[in-house]
Amino acid sequence: MRLVLLGAPGSGKGTQAARLTSEFGVPHISTGDLLRAAVAEGTPLGLKAKAVMDAGHLVSDATVLGMLEHRLGHTDVAAGFILDGYPRNLAQADALDQLLQRLGQPLSAVVKLEVPIEAIVERTALRARAEGRTDDTPETVRKRLQIYQEQTAPLADHYAKARLLKVVDGIGQVEAIFSRILEVLQQPQVVTD
Ligand code: AMP
Repeated sequence: MRLVLLGAPGSGKGTQAARLTSEFGVPHISTGDLLRAAVAEGTPLGLKAKAVMDAGHLVSDATVLGMLEHRLGHTDVAAGFILDGYPRNLAQADALDQLLQRLGQPLSAVVKLEVPIEAIVERTALRARAEGRTDDTPETVRKRLQIYQEQTAPLADHYAKARLLKVVDGIGQVEAIFSRILEVLQQPQVVTD
């Protein structure tokens, strides 16, 4: 199963990715987590990325692609992956298509979690309190949502054209949303080998 999870910041991608990881026995790859790990380790990449992340902007395409390429080189992705937070714009989507083609591992599906903006604002405020993420301040959240709407939301069209897109209602109990995801993944056009 090679899956991309699309959705606004706070749409529940991380939560669902954790469940999908257990269900399919493939790793959860979150570019946000990879970047936060680099920040925590204080690597040169992490030091540079921190300011960009705290401002709610996107880290450069080349940096994130390099990290992802490295991660996809690990042996644990042989059976697939749940990709969360990548791609964020069309250039990244094209880079991913090319990378996976080169690896002979095309995507099985792209699941978009649909959550109305008011619910997103509420959820990110709750997460800010629970996790203390430094990029969950109201101002940064606004910036991240704006970037999502301008650069990431158009990816739905890109994947719809590729006949990979599955849209799932992201409102409700975590387990109910998870069931909806499993349901769309059982549709015949999803190739899971
Ligand atoms: P996330 O955990 O996915 O919300 O990501 C947190 C932050 O990491 C984002 O606001 C960006 O600054 C950065 N980031 C994560 N993934 C990417 C990506 N694919 N491209 C650029 N920046 C990213």
